[in-house]
Amino acid sequence: MVKPMRYREIEAALLRNGCRWTDSKGDHVKWYCPCGRHSVPVDTARTISPGVVRDIIKKLACLPEGWLQ
Ligand SMILES: [Zn+2]
Repeated sequence: MVKPMRYREIEAALLRNGCRWTDSKGDHVKWYCPCGRHSVPVDTARTISPGVVRDIIKKLACLPEGWLQ
């Protein structure tokens, strides 16, 4: 079961897995995976809900299973 997460936790996992961020637009930062073909905007302002956490995992499809939770 996917749990809600804080942006800082997600950011740490993204950095651990070699992801990079480019620009931030308002409350969103766009993250790119190491292969460069997958990207996802992440909301920095609030606690990230389970549905959005799942979406981040799905969009960054090339990362190993369990990379975030
Ligand atoms: Zn990728």
